[in-house]
Amino acid sequence: MAKIVPLFSSSQGNSYYISGNNEAILVDAGRNCKQLELALLSNEIDTKTIKAIFVTHEHTDHCSALRVFAKRYDLPIYATKGTLDALVNADRVDANAKLFAINDEIVLGDMLIKRVNTSHDAKEPCGYSITTADNRRCAVVTDTGFLTNEALTALKSCNLAVIESNHDIEMLKNGPYPYILKQRVLSMTGHLSNVDCAKVLPSMIESGVTRLLLAHLSQENNTKRLAVDTSVAVLSASGMKRDSDYTIDTAPVETNGKAIVF
Ligand SMILES: [Zn+2]
Ligand SMILES: [Zn+2]
Repeated sequence: MAKIVPLFSSSQGNSYYISGNNEAILVDAGRNCKQLELALLSNEIDTKTIKAIFVTHEHTDHCSALRVFAKRYDLPIYATKGTLDALVNADRVDANAKLFAINDEIVLGDMLIKRVNTSHDAKEPCGYSITTADNRRCAVVTDTGFLTNEALTALKSCNLAVIESNHDIEMLKNGPYPYILKQRVLSMTGHLSNVDCAKVLPSMIESGVTRLLLAHLSQENNTKRLAVDTSVAVLSASGMKRDSDYTIDTAPVETNGKAIVF
């Protein structure tokens, strides 16, 4: 049974546990090792099932638990070559860490994990699409100023999509961030807004995606309600009905113990 447990999602920390029949991976390891262990424990997840950690990029909210957690559980770390270099340079991984660069896709146990390029102000960022042995697929695409064709293709081909819905543009423009940070978030290498997320959803549902998980919501420039309402409005305008054509939820800032089967 393929499932995903969103453990953390926000600029404070991000991590997803994704499992197939026998094995599992983590996508990102934010917060700290203790918090990550507690999140796994509260979801009754056996850390022995985790076979590797896939890192999307080197920003702190995606890798702050990496060094200690990977060392403690002797886990290999996969990322793009650029991200691995950045992690090493920033001393985010142990000197003896098992690092593997992912160029395109790799098979790990009974899962196929494919890298999906994103557009973000990091060295070589990416998201991931994960296909399990029973041919179920999910994709995690966050931290991207826009959706590359490759990312859109990956998102359309999955059963469950974790997609960034970072900010409401008006809230961001009128919010407390300094001008330079607002420009960064809004840029092509920043974060995906609610409207930019919403507009790709109808084509995804048309292609067979049934579960949507809006992720990496800004705690300053967004609300759960705004993110969901923006997406549902666009989907409704395309004639798609919530809870019959698709389900939609937001990835929690901290785990709420809900695993989603896909
Ligand atoms: Zn982030
Ligand atoms: Zn980032």
